[in-house]
Amino acid sequence: MSDCLTRKRGWQEGFISPRGAKEEHSSPDFGNCPNLRLLKMDLCVVSLLLVLSCVDAFQYSELAQYIDSHQEEYVEALRDWVAIESDSSNILKRPDLHRMMEVTADKLRKMGGDVVMVDIGEQELPGGGTLALPKVVTAQFGNDTQKHTVCVYGHVDVQPAKLEDGWKTEPYNLTEIDGNLYGRGASDNKAPVLAWIHAVEAYQAFNMELPVNVKFVIEGMEETGSNGLDAMILAQRDTFFSDVDFIAISDCGWLSKRPALTYGTRGNCYFFAEIEGPRQDLHSGVYGGTVIEPMTDLIGILDTLISPSGKILIPGIRDAVAPLTDEEWKTYQDIEFDFDHYKNKIGVSQLMYNNKVDLLAHRWRHPTVTIHGIEGAFSDPGTKTVIPAKVTGKFSIRQVPDMDPALVKNR
Ligand SMILES: [Zn+2]
Repeated sequence: MSDCLTRKRGWQEGFISPRGAKEEHSSPDFGNCPNLRLLKMDLCVVSLLLVLSCVDAFQYSELAQYIDSHQEEYVEALRDWVAIESDSSNILKRPDLHRMMEVTADKLRKMGGDVVMVDIGEQELPGGGTLALPKVVTAQFGNDTQKHTVCVYGHVDVQPAKLEDGWKTEPYNLTEIDGNLYGRGASDNKAPVLAWIHAVEAYQAFNMELPVNVKFVIEGMEETGSNGLDAMILAQRDTFFSDVDFIAISDCGWLSKRPALTYGTRGNCYFFAEIEGPRQDLHSGVYGGTVIEPMTDLIGILDTLISPSGKILIPGIRDAVAPLTDEEWKTYQDIEFDFDHYKNKIGVSQLMYNNKVDLLAHRWRHPTVTIHGIEGAFSDPGTKTVIPAKVTGKFSIRQVPDMDPALVKNR
């Protein structure tokens, strides 16, 4: 996604940020990230809440005016958040990440929310040792059993970003260029989180009752796989999450210039195929031809997963998938989608499918297998005549309705 926001009003297309931005999320999967607009996001959120509450047009326009007149404050709040290098993948930045969670909790506390910083334990480091995970911030505004409860999910950690990666501006210094705001984490996901918070704040400023109870669950490990979040949610399913009617995730993208709501994402099962051969790496000139090579076996195994044309070769994987209904087909048919824009964005001249419904269905609605990497393989530049002693293939299978992860694992 791109970490860019536009300050201009209206639904115009935003800009794609410099290189160094990522495209996909790691598991758990919340889909692609947005090219969202901070100010419009605020309006969006307020609009949603207003629709739910059926407030009259006068209050809506008052709220919209309030939001307009506070644009600069919203941008400054985002500037402060972007300045915190809350990179969850760099253990040296962990103090910044802890600070980011504190700042988030403070903002919610100052608004009178019932805020808890939930300790989710430690992560094990690859070289041994452990490191404290950033606490998950939960907050609650309103506790009326007569109202629905909406829980907003967001994350305030970011991926690494350096000028050398191709950024045209300092990644952690929110910079405005032609009405667009650039900064690491600006759109993924700090501004959307702030937008929700500011929406609640706008209600408070008018002393208006929130039409729904609003809960927040804000984490700091999303970019590295949401370490610790699953266990925390499970542990609180009968407490904090027990009365939640809806979950809102503002961490997803729009397919076109039109605003879009993501109503579901594919899940993911991640696998490791480990092949071990000789006790140590060998020289192919000396031992090649005499030993069974783990890499050759692994490539053979990976080759049985999916064909180059995208057909899943693992028997039974597609059996459980719910068939695409006529209604879904029609929904996909009506979606605005620009093939050329999509191809340009990812830098390819050809896609797996030339038909819109097929392409979108395979993007969202069908499972797929992706081979991600091989640990233990020689991957440095140049040549090396090594026979790797042990290799681990890494692949994942995207899950859709009605696939059962246990069955997929079994297959
Ligand atoms: Zn995100």
